[in-house]
Amino acid sequence: MLSDHYPIKEIQQIIGASGTIINDNTISTLLTDSRRITNASEGLFFALSGRRNGHEFVAEAYAAGVRNFVVSHQTEIKMPEANFLLVDDVLGALQKLAAWHRSRFNLEVIGITGSNGKTIIKEWLYQLLASDKTIVRNPKSYNSQIGVPLSVWQIGEKDDLGIFEAGISTTEEMSRLEAIIKPSIGVLTHIGPAHDEGFKNRKEKVLEKLKLFAHCKLLIHNYDQLIDYKKNISVKDCFSWSTKFNQADLYVFAETVISRNFYLRAKYKGKEIECLIPFLDEASVENAIVCWATMLAMGYSPVEIDKRIERLSPVSMRLELKNGINNCSVIDDSYNSDVQSLEIALNFLNQQNQHPTRTLILSDIFQSGLTQDILYRHVANFIKTKKVDKFIGVGEALTAHQDYFSLDKKYFYPDTATLLQYLNSLNLDNETILIKGARTFEFERISQALSLKSHETVMEINLNALLNNLNFYKSKLKPGVKIMAMVKAFSYGSGTFEVANMLQYNKVDYLAVAYIDEGVALRQAGVTLPVMVLNPEVSAFDKLVEYKLEPEVFSFNLLDEFVKYFQSHGLSNYPVHLKIDTGMHRLGFEDFEIDILCDMLEENRYIKVQSIFSHFVASDAKEHDAFTQKQIKRFERAFTKIEKALGYKVIKHISNTGGIIRWPSAHFDMVRLGIGLYGIDASIPVESKVLQPIAALKTSVSQVRKVLANDTIGYNRNGKLNKAGKIATVRIGYADGYLRAFGNGVGKMLIKGTLVPTVGNISMDMCTLDVSNVDVREGDEVIVFNEELRIEELAREIGTIPYEILTNVSQRVKRVYFYE
Ligand SMILES: *Cc1c(COP(=O)(O)O)cnc(C)c1O
Repeated sequence: MLSDHYPIKEIQQIIGASGTIINDNTISTLLTDSRRITNASEGLFFALSGRRNGHEFVAEAYAAGVRNFVVSHQTEIKMPEANFLLVDDVLGALQKLAAWHRSRFNLEVIGITGSNGKTIIKEWLYQLLASDKTIVRNPKSYNSQIGVPLSVWQIGEKDDLGIFEAGISTTEEMSRLEAIIKPSIGVLTHIGPAHDEGFKNRKEKVLEKLKLFAHCKLLIHNYDQLIDYKKNISVKDCFSWSTKFNQADLYVFAETVISRNFYLRAKYKGKEIECLIPFLDEASVENAIVCWATMLAMGYSPVEIDKRIERLSPVSMRLELKNGINNCSVIDDSYNSDVQSLEIALNFLNQQNQHPTRTLILSDIFQSGLTQDILYRHVANFIKTKKVDKFIGVGEALTAHQDYFSLDKKYFYPDTATLLQYLNSLNLDNETILIKGARTFEFERISQALSLKSHETVMEINLNALLNNLNFYKSKLKPGVKIMAMVKAFSYGSGTFEVANMLQYNKVDYLAVAYIDEGVALRQAGVTLPVMVLNPEVSAFDKLVEYKLEPEVFSFNLLDEFVKYFQSHGLSNYPVHLKIDTGMHRLGFEDFEIDILCDMLEENRYIKVQSIFSHFVASDAKEHDAFTQKQIKRFERAFTKIEKALGYKVIKHISNTGGIIRWPSAHFDMVRLGIGLYGIDASIPVESKVLQPIAALKTSVSQVRKVLANDTIGYNRNGKLNKAGKIATVRIGYADGYLRAFGNGVGKMLIKGTLVPTVGNISMDMCTLDVSNVDVREGDEVIVFNEELRIEELAREIGTIPYEILTNVSQRVKRVYFYE
């Protein structure tokens, strides 16, 4: 995050750090992630300890050019040019620095907290106020103990309003954030159950949230929610809204739906006022009312507010990654454009290795508060550091400043229509394309032109959920235990390089695939992590070696084949993984074969044993715990002998997902994480929500029709409603992976929050649902599974396991990836 410049000596004083300054550097940028270094020479790296200790990454940051560090202890590695500022509490130092920076500016600041809607309300207030204020705000939802200081650090002379959201998950966090944000106007959004688990009770949570408003002169809140807390509020001037109580300052008493809008009427200062909200869902309407109340409290006229709210546009914090034409990948971020979100989107682009070329399509950036000269100089510089190969600028301003961009491949167009006209002649091919534009540029038209057409059934993959799950399992491991992520069978149906790229970026240690082809596909997509192949086929050894894949060796036959192959190709010390059969009885060396195996391995110079492993039969099933224990014993016996024969240490691993939680004593040197990564783990209660399912399968209604009581529906006349009713035909069938077993009422789908059963047989490309009791229209979205209608439930319905449901979703169903 970029800001003013401070001499490092001054920063040392501000945060009260010891250590000697070797170089008098100037600092403008705060860094917390060694993978996301920008502006290294003016950067200050904070070695924060999260799930990994930030001190482990100091050397990496140094290699990337960073010369200034805040640490809690010195590292051993020599970094002769670096300044080290020593503090007890690195996070505390980051917060202190941000608070000090904040204190230098005398601008109005709106502080937002609550359980839901913080980010939307922040973004909407930004949309509503940007025409008469220069606004600084959190990028995306950077509202944590780390995100808030980084956000506040962006405040500059140019700004006349700050809008910052603050999120907390437990007690004593809010006062720290208050000291950094120092809001003068407070906004409390909806309070719901989110993060209840971090507090004794709801009251404790509300009181903690209210601490953000300790020094506010004005607070906007929902009347109903704070009835019980009146005496806990110290703010002088409160502005409340309600849909139930007419004592509220803004009392919303009537609502009507007019086409796609929500029309509200309210009492305000004894008069009747109105507002048209361009959204229909409950959450959006409530968020818009909060914005309405906030603007009234700030003194805007009801008529002006109505005019602005009518033009609110949806907020998408998500980046969408999907397949494009001509073997391209498209990252769609076509809803907003500002410097901070550009930085985040470019980091995501940078993380993609699947194509040789990275392309950015960018529109003019509005309301940055910078002069165009400074803005586009900064943008150009930034694009350079993020390794963009091709730049396509759209807009008058970018076109006017094209000389700042020093890439070979750059193209400029005055507007979106002109770019669309020339799109074909750009010959975009085998590239990762980031599309990022301000709302008015309507870049969704570009996104449509570049994306692959497909039918309307898609599987959405939430990459943040993937990361959440990975981090959850990481937190269950002792330091030093490695993670092998199982990405066989298209990552359990979730994708190939999209998932692997994410895992590589977030530093898992190993990947595993079932077949050599799967490994080759990962390598071709730029994945460089070591990859183990579970079932290597002799016919593809050439490929295995060419792509540096590491085979599992599970039998004497296979061992012979490999040794022969390596010998005849002049290879030695090729990394392999030995599989021990401790009870599964599929692949692997058995107890009685271990001694012979040891003899064969001794002094064998063709192979290098990288790891020894086995596989649990039922690690998640209590009734088989005695057997699991036996497996562990057998495994220990086998690897002890083999390591002795080899004369060197190897990685030992046996735990799959179930083993990670239930058998911590069997983690050994590495665990193999499969289904848990995708959000499913039988040993973790679904209600705990610590895991998030990463996949949602969605389709849509192609036709709705009435049927009579004795009509039959579908093939073989199996479907019938008990009385006259209504059915919806939806665009998914057994060829998409929605198995025939779901037919005739066994399976259920979600339409507008209501569960509806199938009726009749499932066809190849479609099926029918009984929607007699739901208001359904053609085109409506239908959920096959998501975080609400769980895969576990579908599996239960047809007597199978979640693995089969996931991997059955056919390749014809388009995958779309989301990342926030
Ligand atoms: C698939 C697989 C795993 C992962 O199992 P999960 O139950 O999905 O965690 C681990 N090890 C091997 C050998 C596998 O084939």
